[in-house]
Amino acid sequence: MVERVRQQGVSNPKVLAAMNTLAREAFVDEALRMRVYDDCSLPIGQGQTLSQPYIVGRMSELLLGASIPVKRVLEIGTGSGYQAAVLAQCGCAVFTIERIGAFLDVAKARHRRLGLLNIRYLHRDGFKGWPSQAPFDGIIVTAAPPTIPDELKVQLAVGGRLIVPVGAQGGAQRLTVITRTEKDFRSQFFDAVSFVPMLPGEQS
Ligand code: SAH
Repeated sequence: MVERVRQQGVSNPKVLAAMNTLAREAFVDEALRMRVYDDCSLPIGQGQTLSQPYIVGRMSELLLGASIPVKRVLEIGTGSGYQAAVLAQCGCAVFTIERIGAFLDVAKARHRRLGLLNIRYLHRDGFKGWPSQAPFDGIIVTAAPPTIPDELKVQLAVGGRLIVPVGAQGGAQRLTVITRTEKDFRSQFFDAVSFVPMLPGEQS
């Protein structure tokens, strides 16, 4: 799987090593384990999905590609816990927010079992971010908001990057990178993607 992700264009050695080390099958139900290394996204329950391996690699690489050392990162949309695990395995302290409480409990147990201890969890609407822990060296959003959430931008450290798939569900979404500069924010646009929508509010 990692060799394919590399051929698809992901080159950061830390990201590739993390994806190589982590057993992706630990993050899906047993019935899906045969498909876990395929080049596709997978259902994780409640209409949500674990992204295709290439997209996880691509977003991780964009996040870690900032001009500052990326140590503290915020993830919106814990889901299965796989993306958070990849970033933790890359050496980041991960703060992850999920609006569906049941996902958090499962993800936490998976991380513990794998010995990933540098991850903190919050059950909350991710549109608000985690102001008490800000600023973050990077923020990664793994569900698609219709527009860039301003409250997340301001929780970035100068030099840090916000990686977010922006666009309407079913419409065109674009992987967008917002970099905080001394005075302002800079936008760059990357791959066309297809994420589940980022929804307001919380549920158990
Ligand atoms: N990073 C996850 C991807 C999960 S899919 C993984 O590695 O598996 C997207 C996730 O975003 C879902 O779990 C969904 O519940 C969550 N989500 C959607 N809107 C959100 C919001 N406003 N705040 C926090 N999480 C949200």
